[in-house]
Amino acid sequence: MHVNKKRLGIAAIILILLVATYYGFLREPSDFEESAARRIAKDCPRYIIDVDFDPDEKRIEGTQEVIIKNTEMVELTELYFHLYPNAFKTPDAAPFPKTEFASAYPDGFSPGYINIKKVTGVSGPLEYEVEDTILKVVLDKPLKPQQQIKLTLEFTEVIPPSYGRFGYGQNTYNIANWYPILAVYDENGWNKDPYYAVGDPFYSDVGLYEVKIKAPKEYTIAAGGSLSDKKQDGAYNIWTFKTGLVRDFAWVAGSKFQTASDMVDGVKITSFYMKEDAVYGKKALEYAKKAIKFYSEYFAKYPYKEYTVAASDFYIGGMEYPNLVMIGRQFYNDGDLLEYVVVHETAHQWWYGLVGNNEVKEPWLDEALTEYSTVLYYENVYGRKTGQRIYEDFIYNPYRFYEQSLGRLPGPVLRPLEEFSTWGEYDAIVYSRGAIMLKQLESSIGKEKFREALRFYFRQNIYKNATTADFIKAVNKATGADWTDYIYNKMLKNTQPLQKAA
Ligand SMILES: [Zn+2]
Repeated sequence: MHVNKKRLGIAAIILILLVATYYGFLREPSDFEESAARRIAKDCPRYIIDVDFDPDEKRIEGTQEVIIKNTEMVELTELYFHLYPNAFKTPDAAPFPKTEFASAYPDGFSPGYINIKKVTGVSGPLEYEVEDTILKVVLDKPLKPQQQIKLTLEFTEVIPPSYGRFGYGQNTYNIANWYPILAVYDENGWNKDPYYAVGDPFYSDVGLYEVKIKAPKEYTIAAGGSLSDKKQDGAYNIWTFKTGLVRDFAWVAGSKFQTASDMVDGVKITSFYMKEDAVYGKKALEYAKKAIKFYSEYFAKYPYKEYTVAASDFYIGGMEYPNLVMIGRQFYNDGDLLEYVVVHETAHQWWYGLVGNNEVKEPWLDEALTEYSTVLYYENVYGRKTGQRIYEDFIYNPYRFYEQSLGRLPGPVLRPLEEFSTWGEYDAIVYSRGAIMLKQLESSIGKEKFREALRFYFRQNIYKNATTADFIKAVNKATGADWTDYIYNKMLKNTQPLQKAA
């Protein structure tokens, strides 16, 4: 062995870094989260949205102020926003696979969209262009690094009769991906991806929201953040919600909602459900409580004041938004799926919500981790045997069946949304194969080390967008070994059928 002086110096620095990291692990997660939140809150976008919700006309109308700080090193001459409701304009563009059209629009297709009426800057109206789901705002003068700007956008939107993320059904209005949200500017410039029919094609930075919704008074609203004010105005209520640092804001409105709430570790959990589903609405509350408690202990404390589970006319399953998840009403029965879906969407509060990622380019990062985390919940809450049964019934066996019936190689886990043509393929590969590979990684490095890696990954990336490289970095850090080649080549880019686990 040959050791030179310079290397010893480097070794000393590495040792100091390792010790610092080790102590970093031991610090109270809540302190860490709070200081990370303070830092990020100074620079993140602030949205102040004020809308009228008219369920009879299926319309939402109002204004959005947004304060945006240029945190990039370059001047920005344009700003881009996603206008996701425009994906619902035509049957061709509607973000549902063609084979699922009848489920997405059980009462037939009718367009949904958002119409931008005006964009105003500090010194008057600004020019803008709308192309499908993208709004480009041309600034009257360049926004220099560290400068901020306030825009006011006026808009009207029409809610389509879709049982998807944006639409209405018999019982609920699902109002998600509904307002002009700032696109992410990253090392690739502006991310202007379309609303793909498969996957959750979203990618956003965290922001702070204050959202005021004027709704007919017979409607109840389940939303992200916390209700900070509700006052009656004639036949209407004006609901005001305020959030902590979240990467989106969604709400569900219904005139037949009942609610049940409880506290767990200082977090208020609320279940919104239909009267006739009361037994299951209360079960959903219990599952959400157990999941928030478990993940808070296993990964890191849930840092928000509230968490809401809303039964929705949603044919796809469940859908995660910060502090709020939509759960398809079809699961409010005695089957295993209600708990599974509630727990899965709750795990997304950590993987997608608190630690974000580009769900268009690297969807495995949140979905596979969330599936893996769902199994963890069952193992820890009900014991290993139940965990194993759930893993086999919901992940391993369906995947093996998929692979055997495929008649070709399954293709890699790490690939962007546009490379998946059906939900079936996406689900099998990204969720199941991804989670199986994480289980294999867990058994290779040990459960405790993998937990440490995930906790490190969380702390390094809370309120940010993480990448596959960040995930690998965390595994390497926790194990003190280099798993880069294994994770990329044996797991994520591997196109071979799974080896039957021993
Ligand atoms: Zn998911």
